[in-house]
Amino acid sequence: MLDNRNPDNEEFLEYVVEVVNQVLASGQMPESLPPILSENSQFRGLLSDLIAIYQFSLALANGKLDQEYRIRGKIAGALKSLQANLRHLTWQTQRVAQGDFSQRVDFMGDFSIAFNSMVKNLHDYGEASEQRTLKSSTQKQMVVKSMLEAQSNRDEIEKINAQLKAQLEEINQLQLLLQEQAIRDQLTGLFNRRYLGETLERELARAKRSHYPVSVIMIDLDGFKNLNDSYGHQVGDMVLQSLGNLLLVKTRMGDIPCRYSGEEIVVVFPNVDAETTAQRAEYLREAFAELSFNNAGLTIQATFSAGVASFPEHADEMEDLLHAADRALHTAKSTGRNRVAVYQSSRVK
Ligand code: GH3
Ligand code: MG
Ligand code: MG
Repeated sequence: MLDNRNPDNEEFLEYVVEVVNQVLASGQMPESLPPILSENSQFRGLLSDLIAIYQFSLALANGKLDQEYRIRGKIAGALKSLQANLRHLTWQTQRVAQGDFSQRVDFMGDFSIAFNSMVKNLHDYGEASEQRTLKSSTQKQMVVKSMLEAQSNRDEIEKINAQLKAQLEEINQLQLLLQEQAIRDQLTGLFNRRYLGETLERELARAKRSHYPVSVIMIDLDGFKNLNDSYGHQVGDMVLQSLGNLLLVKTRMGDIPCRYSGEEIVVVFPNVDAETTAQRAEYLREAFAELSFNNAGLTIQATFSAGVASFPEHADEMEDLLHAADRALHTAKSTGRNRVAVYQSSRVK
């Protein structure tokens, strides 16, 4: 159209081209134009469109996708389409960032291929890492499970240990009880005759080595047969038990009270002489005589007689010592009962 308007003016045409180039190069309106151009609204419009396209392109290049330009034509259309594509792509990328790996691009050639393969890789990587997380969490669960199992095994072992300990304790107690039973008389709780034999032998041997006395009291209940006959054997047993209890309570540590035979009791006093033993026997006799037993409304009292003999004053060996105590007991019986007699030795020391 320029040609039609001014076909001969080559110079002017060149000038116009230069102006357009200048606008394309700077992206700005020329500072001054000759009136023929500046007053031409279509030419000014053309320059404005060129500048708008330039600015639109620049904005796209800088990633500003929200620009609005009222320009027309195919170039502007292509730029607007590029803007729309980039906007859509931005949105798709945001979706991918949120974990939506179904996003695909099919409108941007090589870029589409690169984008789609990136999304697929991200998806695969995500799945693999999910598997890894799953695997490691399964492993963790297994470790926790085996730790719990180990703990429960430990608890079980501790429980069994505690049970074994309790059983052992019980066995020890039973053993002690058995040992006690083996040396104790059941009715009176006093030591039995076997224990008396062993202990008195040992005490005498020790006393001989260490030169100290060992004394014995032999006790026999007075008129016990009569008591049994009058009140019954059970009452007799009760009286015997009471005597046993009294001897256990009123003798000292180290004294050895034993049931010798039916209603005869021997108490051994290591390192106590005859005189002191006689005093002890007297004290025990009085204490027993003061006891009274209630049976079916009847008050029963019992007494005993006692004979005292001592090593080395009256005998050296166990049998002789017990015999001497028995002799003294007979003296106590024959002189009236309920009394204590000390063996009267005729031997010369
Ligand atoms: P003494 O004063 O002369 O000793 O008269 P006694 O009746 O006690 O005469 P002796 O010692 O000979 O009598 C023993 C009696 O003790 C005979 C027996 O029935 C009784 N006796 C022995 N062992 C037991 C016992 O374990 N329980 C009971 N209840 N009586 C017993
Ligand atoms: Mg007797
Ligand atoms: Mg008697």
